[in-house]
Amino acid sequence: MENPQTPIMEERKGRRIIMFPLPFPGHFNPMIELAGIFHHRGFSVTILHTSYNFPDPSRHSHFTFRNVPHNKEGEEDPLSQSETSGMDLIALIRQLKQSYAEPFRQSLAAEVRGGGDTVCCLVSDAIWGRNTAVVAEEIGVRRVVLRTGGAASFCAFAAFPLLRDKGYLPIQDSRLDEPVTELPPLKVKDLPIIETKEPGDLYRVVNDMVEGAKLSSGVIWNTFEDLERFHFMDCNSKLQVPFFPIGPFHKHRDDLPFNTKNMEDCKTTEWLNKKDPQSVVYASFGSLAAIEEKEFLEIAWGLRNSERPFLWIVRPGSVRGSEWLESLPCGFIENFGDKGKIVKWTNQLEVLAHPSVGAFWTHCGWNSTLESISEGVPMICTPCFSDQHVNARYIVDVWRVGLVLERSKMERKEIEKVIRSVMMENGDGMKERCLELKEKANVCLSEEGSSSKYLDKLVSHVLSFGSYAFAS
Ligand code: UDP
Repeated sequence: MENPQTPIMEERKGRRIIMFPLPFPGHFNPMIELAGIFHHRGFSVTILHTSYNFPDPSRHSHFTFRNVPHNKEGEEDPLSQSETSGMDLIALIRQLKQSYAEPFRQSLAAEVRGGGDTVCCLVSDAIWGRNTAVVAEEIGVRRVVLRTGGAASFCAFAAFPLLRDKGYLPIQDSRLDEPVTELPPLKVKDLPIIETKEPGDLYRVVNDMVEGAKLSSGVIWNTFEDLERFHFMDCNSKLQVPFFPIGPFHKHRDDLPFNTKNMEDCKTTEWLNKKDPQSVVYASFGSLAAIEEKEFLEIAWGLRNSERPFLWIVRPGSVRGSEWLESLPCGFIENFGDKGKIVKWTNQLEVLAHPSVGAFWTHCGWNSTLESISEGVPMICTPCFSDQHVNARYIVDVWRVGLVLERSKMERKEIEKVIRSVMMENGDGMKERCLELKEKANVCLSEEGSSSKYLDKLVSHVLSFGSYAFAS
């Protein structure tokens, strides 16, 4: 890692990067991590953020935050809590893109033309799509895209037109176990779709993401070359823009400014400290997935019956029809005592890095997948939607660092069985493979590693844009 006093840091002084994250934790967190990486390399960072899922700027004091206001005074807010609570994810993304298109244009123009530090470029989440490309070009600022998912799933998204032509999409229940010969090792059931009332919108969002990436000056990936080498070649040939796999972002430095802990996190660490090494099952299904009450109860009994200590994240509202834990049988929590812990949210990076954690029961969101790989923790994979299915297939069949527990088979006996298999000492060499993959991630981040080299290239690339005047 370079010395902050080097002349090159001087060169970046007064250079600013503007970021526009999508307002969901699985997208916002990696953008903030990336902001930390740029900041460490001497850039100043301004985050344009939506008022929907408003972040807490006090947790990220290194960056400047600017609110992008989306609703005109006196008009009803289409993104208020009450309007969005029942929306499906694709409808919500469509609404976000619509509502923020014009306000984003105004905010970016104000930032770029407002003076102060020279703006090097905009980094926008890939899902914002072509609108950010059009706006950046109009204002005269170069745009780099952050793709917060993996390269394998991006290839599957980019193949949507082909998959539709060949009849794989829309998915038919009778073909779920058929291989997709054009995208091995995926099966039809692994294709990254999101259930929505308007399937046309799903195809439009995906197409817009892919086309928007093609129009960019480069794509930054939160993954590493050794993990997805083949898919980078594929993405590269499809997108024809420079690409920068510099992940895992969160492992670049120990002191990234986002990695803060609250009181509850400290209590969780204290609880983990009292457990035996590799004895705890950590269960979390990310920031968006919701489950039925019946599934919730099967998970509860499965965890309890496995007789392993467990740390379970239950987000308020994530069990349909419940506020939080009220559907658990009376006395259930008291019964497992100190053996289990249920919390609403935790510092997942800290939990996965804790020596007591022996397995991660996950929905296979890309961040969770990469965070688990980075810590060498075996996974139990219960994908729910979108790229999670692709990620699970790679975890189980390609990297072989996890077992699958399909959502349709999430029944207490099955849960107990899978937990026991994953936690079994030296199962079938899974733990060794996890540690090998963790080592590969570490090597990528070492001085001569691929992620470090790509980061150097990214920094030079961004600096080569010069000032904000657009040069195609
Ligand atoms: N996360 C967290 N605490 C929790 C649950 C999740 O910090 O209790 C973080 C997790 O570390 C990851 C993100 O939320 O960075 C979830 O992203 P992911 O891509 O795994 O899933 P998504 O939420 O997008 O479905």
